[in-house]
This record gives sequence, C-alpha cells and structure tokens, in this order.
Amino acid sequence: MADNQNSFQNFKGNQGNKPKKRIGFYWVYVILIAFFIGTIVFGGSSGVRETTMTELTKMLKDGDIEKIELVNGKTAEIYLNDQGMKKYFPNETSQAFGKKPNFMLNTTESRLYAKVDEAQEGLSNPVEVIPVERHNWTGEIISWILPLLLILGFWVLIMRRMGNGAGMGGGQIFNIGKSKAQLYDQEKDNKTTFKDVAGLEEAKEEVMEIVDFLKNPNRYTRLGGKIPKGVLLVGPPGTGKTLLAKSVAGEANVPFFSISGSDFVEMFVGVGASRVRDLFSQAKSKSPCIIFIDEIDAIGRARGKNIVSGGNDERESTLNQLLTEMDGFGTNSGVIVLAATNRADILDKALMRAGRFDRQIYVELPDLNGRRDIFGVHMRGLKLGSDVDKEFLAKQTPGFSGADIANVCNEAALIAARRNKENIDKQDFLDAIDRIVGGLEKKNSVITPSEKKVIAYHEAGHATTSWMLEHAHPLVKVTIVPRGKALGAAWYLPDERQITTKEQMYHEMIATLGGRAAEQIIFGHISTGALNDLEKVSKQAHAMVMYYGLDEKIGNVSYYDSTGQQEYSFQKPFSEKTAETIDAEVSKLIESAYQEALRILNEHKEGLTKLAEKLIDKEVIFTDDLVNIFGERPWKHEERSFSRRKDDKPEATQEQPGNQYPENTTIA
Ligand code: ADP
Ligand code: ZN
Repeated sequence: MADNQNSFQNFKGNQGNKPKKRIGFYWVYVILIAFFIGTIVFGGSSGVRETTMTELTKMLKDGDIEKIELVNGKTAEIYLNDQGMKKYFPNETSQAFGKKPNFMLNTTESRLYAKVDEAQEGLSNPVEVIPVERHNWTGEIISWILPLLLILGFWVLIMRRMGNGAGMGGGQIFNIGKSKAQLYDQEKDNKTTFKDVAGLEEAKEEVMEIVDFLKNPNRYTRLGGKIPKGVLLVGPPGTGKTLLAKSVAGEANVPFFSISGSDFVEMFVGVGASRVRDLFSQAKSKSPCIIFIDEIDAIGRARGKNIVSGGNDERESTLNQLLTEMDGFGTNSGVIVLAATNRADILDKALMRAGRFDRQIYVELPDLNGRRDIFGVHMRGLKLGSDVDKEFLAKQTPGFSGADIANVCNEAALIAARRNKENIDKQDFLDAIDRIVGGLEKKNSVITPSEKKVIAYHEAGHATTSWMLEHAHPLVKVTIVPRGKALGAAWYLPDERQITTKEQMYHEMIATLGGRAAEQIIFGHISTGALNDLEKVSKQAHAMVMYYGLDEKIGNVSYYDSTGQQEYSFQKPFSEKTAETIDAEVSKLIESAYQEALRILNEHKEGLTKLAEKLIDKEVIFTDDLVNIFGERPWKHEERSFSRRKDDKPEATQEQPGNQYPENTTIA
C-alpha cells in the first residue's frame, strides 16, 4: 500500500485546474482591500469644515443658511445660501462644494433643536432642521465582511493544513465534497497486468471473469447474466490486493479509480456522503471502469457497534451513501467496485448482501512458490549476480508478504549500490532480508526458525492422528504459512454427513488434540498455540455430554434449548450435582482423547518426524505426501473424491485465536 503514491505519480488528478482557482481567490482579497482603502479615502463626510454651536447660532441669526440636515440624529450638516457663501467662502462658488455641506457639527438632537429655535426667534422665515437617516453602506458592509473574511481565511488555513497532511495541495474549500479518487488512465500511464502479479493463482482466476465482462459486456448482458457489482479482496496488508485490482483494470483496459476508505471520512459532517456521490458520478461518466476502495473497513465497520462514542454518524451516513450508490447503479452499467480489507469480520453485514460485495476473494500471504515468483517479478529490472537463487531466497523469507519481498529487492539494490558493486549478489539480498526482518519483528508476521519447527510438528500432529483414525475427516492440505493471525492450518474435507456418531466425534476430538500431543512428545512441553484446538474440543465435549446424550453417566438427556430462552436466564436447567457430573465427564472425555492422541503419535513417531521435516522444508503438504509416508489408509472413505474442486469448502483447524477468516471455511 505504501508505494501506491509512487506508482500513481502520473495520475491526472481531478483537481488539475486547481492553481487557477487559487489565483482567482487571491483576486478577491485584492479587490476587497482596495475597496476598503477607497472608502476610507474618498467616502464619508470627511473634508468638511467643522463648526461650533456659537458660529451656527450666528449664521442663523444672520440668515446665511440654506438648510440644516441632522444626519442619524447626531451630525448636523449645514448648507449655506449665496449670502453665506460670500461671507465664509468668498473665493469659492457653491458649485465647488457640489452636493457636500459647507459645515458640519457634532451635536445631539435636542440640543440642536433648542439652539436653532432660540437663534431664530422672531425671524420671519426660519430654517427648519431636516432629520435624515443615512446609511454608511460601505462602512457597514466592511464591518460585516471583515470578520467574515477573517473566519474564511482561518478556515482556508486549516483546510490547507489538513489537505497537506493527506498529501494534497491547498485551496481545497471548493473541492471538499469532491472525491479524492485518483484516476489511472490506461492509455496514458503504464499498465499493470496479470504478469506483474505473481502467485495468487486462485484469486486471479476469480477476477478473470470480471476482466472478461469488462471487455465484452455484451456477451453477458445478451443472455441476461448478472455480473457482480462489488468484489471484496480480503487479506493481510501488502499481499497485493491493490496490485490485483489494478491489474484487473489493466487487463480489461479500463480506467481505474483508486481511493482509500479513510479519504471519505473528514471532520465535516456530510462530506463523506457527498464524496461517495461524486466518486460514483465520475465513475459512471467513464464507464466501463473499476473503482478500487482500499481499507474499506474505515467506513464499512458494522454500524451501531460504537456505543461508547455515541455512534459515528458521519461514518454511518458515508456507508449508507455507498450502499445506496451500489444499489442504484444497474448491474450492467459497467462500473465494478473492488474493495480491500484485512478485517472482513468487522464489516457491516449489509455490505456483503447480494448485489453489493457479494463476492469475496482471499488474498493470502504467499507460500514458498508464491514467494519465488514474486522475487521473479521484482528481480526483472535488477542487475543480478550469478549466485542469486530465487528458490533459496524464497526459503529464507517465511511469512513475508509481497510488499516485503518487493522491499527486499529494492533494499538489496541499494545495498549493492552503496558497496559500489556492478551486480546485486546473494549476500546483498541476505543483508536486505536481515534488515527487513529486523523491521518486521515488531509487526509479528515473521516466524523464527524454532517457532517454525513447533508449528510444523503441531500441524504434523494433526495430520498424523487424523490419518490414523478411521472416522476423522480425511486431510486435504497442511500448511505452516501464516494466514492472518493463524500460524498454520490443516484442511480437511468434511463428510457431508447428516448424523454424526459418537465415535466420529471422538475421533475428531483426538485429531484436534493431535497438535498439542505432538508438541508434548517431541519437545516435552506444550505451548499456547493450541488455544483454538482446545476451545473447539471443549465445545465439542460439552455438546456430546449436554446436548446429544452421548455420555453414559448423564444418559439420554439433552439440556439443549431450541427456543433459545435459556440464554437469558441465570438458572441452569440441571442441579449442582449434575453440573459436577457434567464437568467430570467432559474432563474425562477430553483427557482420554488426549491420551489416545499421545498413543497414536508415539506409535508413529517416525512418520510424524518425517512429515514435520517435510513441512519445514516445503511449507505446504498434500494428501500425496501423507500417502508416501504412511501408505494408503486402510479404510475406504465412502467414495469421496479428494480432488479439490473450487467449490469444495474444506474445513480447517487453525492455531490462533481471533481468526479473521470466513464462516465458509468453518474454522473453529
Ligand atoms: P495491499 O493492497 O494488499 O496492501 P499492495 O497491492 O499495495 O498490497 O502491494 C504492495 C506492493 O507489494 C505491490 O505494489 C507490489 O510491488 C508488491 N506485491 C505484493 N504482492 C505481490 C504479488 N503477488 N506479486 C508481485 N508483487 C507483489
Ligand atoms: Zn492445532
């Protein structure tokens, strides 16, 4: 994700005309300032001579005055008649003053009236005071505009700060509701295609259909077929989700909009929703095209869970707008939304509903072969020494994501350059790996060799026990490639059985405990890695005793409550004594299963070791490897095909709590 910024360098952003707008905005400042100065210099009644009340009284008595205006009840403006002009301004004509008064006098209303009346007592045609309401428009406007301008300026400042933080230029105020999506145009920029994506074969196969649709939409629409509007790419960071989405656009030769979920969320209410609207209207105008939303969990988190902070209304309304837009555009409008997340479990269920992100593609950390191919992709542009071996490097980098490997290649090139070498050697790569492991250790995705050994034996323990038990599910695949938080996993092909016998359940429990038992046998101590196994076994044992009536002591009693009301009552449906018996029986059941697992593994210790060594070496093993080590299973398993069709949903056991993986692989 980190290097998106670089690879998007050539983007023709949607704010291409921004600089012009900014200049326009500065003009507003200039005009306002000029206006302000202008009004001070030329405006108002400045420049008129002030007079005194005594002088005014004299003028009145002499009959020099044409009229008196009282402006706003506080300023008297005095206009002289011709006689007065001659007396006071002998060198000027009344035209020189234009419409301006000859004198002014600051006074109060009552005082002026009193004095004017007093001065003109007994005169035949006295001058009346004319009250005038006059607005100083310019002054008033300025007194309004100035604070407004200040606020606006302050806002622009803040916006610019925030904009810069997000890697954007300034002058955002007119664009705040616009989406910040970057448009990647296939004609102008260099294309990403499937050949840039190494590994991820299954994921590629799944997105192939989308490519096909974007290329020939008619073929699908003609038959009335519907293509998904939304596809969710789920997987840890750096595994190539963005890359995959970009390559879909590249293969189909359509425009590609890229945006991050967090770009929608701003501190202003309503901005997110309007950005979503803007994004979709932009996309529709470029259809067919692809919208890629990275980190969709930033907006797609389940609604209503956030009770503490009073619920994030802004995020919710953004999400609602997204859902509305996705419902709104027809299936055949040619806009396909790809979204990436590494937490599919926290997403709002409404997002996954049919017609939205109804398809999920898992993008996992690469296995040995995947890593080799990724090295291949990223070594293309490098000048390599003759001793560089991709296979070897792939073995040195368990738990690395595609992004980490890209980083290794780049780092190796930098190290070689620093050493003034002509080519990049194996040693440069090893040093680069060391450096990156150092950085990664905190991120916990890297496994030390001794941890890898424990995980391998643990998984081999599951595999061996299940292989040796008639009623356990047949094994499909075992891996020690970390997936998300899980350290390893074994996949089984579950029988499609409607009824499970006591024996089958018991055998499954043994196989589930096989991991821990193997650790006990080989290392003499056990680890915390079996939490998931233990949880699964405990639940199963409880179910056997309490629900299915499979325990001799408890007998044919089920404490299962299909009405679901029991959950809300604190009372148990059985007595204290029964509770004790249940506890005892559950422990007994689990303990005996564990002993059985130990027995099986001790008996097949040699095979277990071989299997574990093979796992350490290859990281993934399949049914064939088990057959090679242990020979065919003596039991024929009811004619079930072992070939992994795509829609076979294998069951997996995983080694860590808090797994983020889908319900459809039934991970307990
Ligand atoms: P994500 O979106 O899953 O976090 P990205 O797609 O941004 O990961 O991957 C980051 C970089 O890692 C890519 O640009 C690419 O260089 C490299 N990379 C990741 N996965 C692969 C892969 N399968 N093949 C080739 N390069 C990869
Ligand atoms: Zn396990």
